[in-house]
Amino acid sequence: MNAALPIDAAAPGARRSRQASVRWGDRLVTIGGDAPVRVQSMTNTDTADAIGTAIQVKELALAGSELVRITVNTPEAAQAVPYVREQLDRMGIDVPLIGDFHYNGHRLLTDYPDCAQALSKYRINPGNVGKGDKRDRQFGQMIEIAMRWNKAVRIGVNWGSLDQELLASLMDANRRRAVPWDAKPVMYEALITSAIESARFAQSLGLNANQILLSCKVSGVQDLVSVYRELARRCDYALHLGLTEAGMGTKGTVTSSVALAILLQEGIGDTIRVSLTPQPGESRTQEVVIASEILQALGLRSFVPSVTACPGCGRTTSTTFQELTQQIDNFLREQMPVWRERYPGVEKLKVAVMGCIVNGPGESKHADIGISLPGTGEAPAAPVFIDGEKRLTLRGEHIAQEFQVIVENYIQKRFGAAEPAN
Ligand code: SF4
Repeated sequence: MNAALPIDAAAPGARRSRQASVRWGDRLVTIGGDAPVRVQSMTNTDTADAIGTAIQVKELALAGSELVRITVNTPEAAQAVPYVREQLDRMGIDVPLIGDFHYNGHRLLTDYPDCAQALSKYRINPGNVGKGDKRDRQFGQMIEIAMRWNKAVRIGVNWGSLDQELLASLMDANRRRAVPWDAKPVMYEALITSAIESARFAQSLGLNANQILLSCKVSGVQDLVSVYRELARRCDYALHLGLTEAGMGTKGTVTSSVALAILLQEGIGDTIRVSLTPQPGESRTQEVVIASEILQALGLRSFVPSVTACPGCGRTTSTTFQELTQQIDNFLREQMPVWRERYPGVEKLKVAVMGCIVNGPGESKHADIGISLPGTGEAPAAPVFIDGEKRLTLRGEHIAQEFQVIVENYIQKRFGAAEPAN
């Protein structure tokens, strides 16, 4: 057989956007340019409850959210914002806070300057800043406050709250076309025009382009892909990417993942949020876990060691395999807040937990550390592979605990070398 040409390794495309900066104190989070794609999230607490909100922001930040958005919808919420910030500072959580404004943002930011100062970024929805001649005036008021306090803004358009006057004028223009477009492309056009024209208006008022991020959120996967491809083509502002109202559980996770993956693979999206509806009793941090997993699965960033596990099948003899996979995965995640500092680089570790000899040894050799549990008819022994070599075999009742110790020792040895001696 003739030698074929080498197959190119898949890699995310590069769209070079302007770099925006969001700060709090000494903490600087860059978005766009050559910065890594950032994970962000949003609280679902009543912001007027400053303590409850600060606790949830802390949970989101510890889960890996690099920016956290909070609702600022009432005078009480605006008054609480500086206290939320203060609580976070006291707890040593320096994550920048983003204020989410609709309808009355111009008033709240004007009437509560401590709120305007405590936030690091303002989200402005051009569809909800006012109608008629009030629109530009109230939008301009928010931009002037952002300039006064040197804050970034996200001009966040959403098709659930699209500027109706703009949409009506684009619909009218469409009717006058020789061959009118379908309604959908007109809607896309309205979303993109609203975002870009608002950004240009903000720049005409004096806001630096590096302080502006854009988003155009829709709830359908193909719609999101169409809109963001065009948005990315028409401007170089840093882009906040997310599928709005993604839904709950598996549906929300899958739709967000596929939509974001397509665009991120094309280099589109500088910061992401997964708008997941939490299941009753589910932690809000789940949206951060999913956003991080999307970036990690695409090879864009590493947050936690990855555990490769086979799905199990008729060859899997017991529940040991599932239990060990879950135990190792939970263990690695729980340790990360400490390990991030103690063992730099540990987030790139690859662990394999496999159910039988068919793919177990092979997959384990590809990992840094892997175990192949015995399947049906195999001797009750679990070979452990380290750095591609079979090093030992575990037997008996305590395979799970012993493997966890082996993983811990490996991490200490490989990633702990830089620890200062006491
Ligand atoms: S590795 Fe073995 S147990 Fe796991 S899915 Fe493959 S055949 Fe089944």
